[in-house]
Amino acid sequence: MSDIAGWKKIGIMGGTFNPIHIGHLLLGQWAMEEAELDGVAFIPTGNSYLKDRSELLPGEERLAMTRLAISDRECFCSLDMEVERGGDTYTCETLDALHTLYPQAKLYFIVGADCLFSIENWYHPEEIFKRCILLAASRGGMPMELLEQKQRELTQKYGAEIQLTAFPNIEISSTDIRRRRREGRSIRYLVPDSVRDYIEYKGYYQEDARH
Ligand code: ATP
Ligand code: MG
Repeated sequence: MSDIAGWKKIGIMGGTFNPIHIGHLLLGQWAMEEAELDGVAFIPTGNSYLKDRSELLPGEERLAMTRLAISDRECFCSLDMEVERGGDTYTCETLDALHTLYPQAKLYFIVGADCLFSIENWYHPEEIFKRCILLAASRGGMPMELLEQKQRELTQKYGAEIQLTAFPNIEISSTDIRRRRREGRSIRYLVPDSVRDYIEYKGYYQEDARH
């Protein structure tokens, strides 16, 4: 089903997507199968307050790449709510807004292991846990026991509902893709062809990202 309004179990992939890569897409697909979601909404951040901004492309550009990456997939959609809101964007506000828009739906916030370990430093983590089920995937070869330990800790502290999933280790990050571009190396197969064409056409990530 292509319309998010009809989805009962909505997966949410938040990220800077600077740029979106196949790790994100595979994780969305994996999570959808694992939790039997109706679809996944990809939501690029506005200007993430936790990120080093020097290399961060404008939200509109990261959104454009996200749209290209998912355009051929009916059960993936992109939402511009964080980019449109501008400024620092907070996951708890996004989840609130989604709950207001789709009150019948269950929200599954999909994150890689790095985010499971940083989420307590995000803005009002207790509000995040109130609004969604966290679907946390392994990343970077981090042992599952560590994830389970963190899961127990967050469940005790916040009453969080957290599902862990053993996502295969895919050593791809946007940081690595940006580095490859700076070094003049190829990003073929790391991002969808449409995204690679866009990045190359615009000359992004070669030196100063703000072209
Ligand atoms: P950067 O290197 O700029 O931080 P990133 O590759 O980590 O980029 P983000 O946009 O920061 O991508 O991540 C969005 C979400 O996708 C996060 O929850 C992150 O943990 C997850 N994610 C990204 N890449 C992977 C991967 N290879 N395996 C598992 N999860 C991933
Ligand atoms: Mg990251």
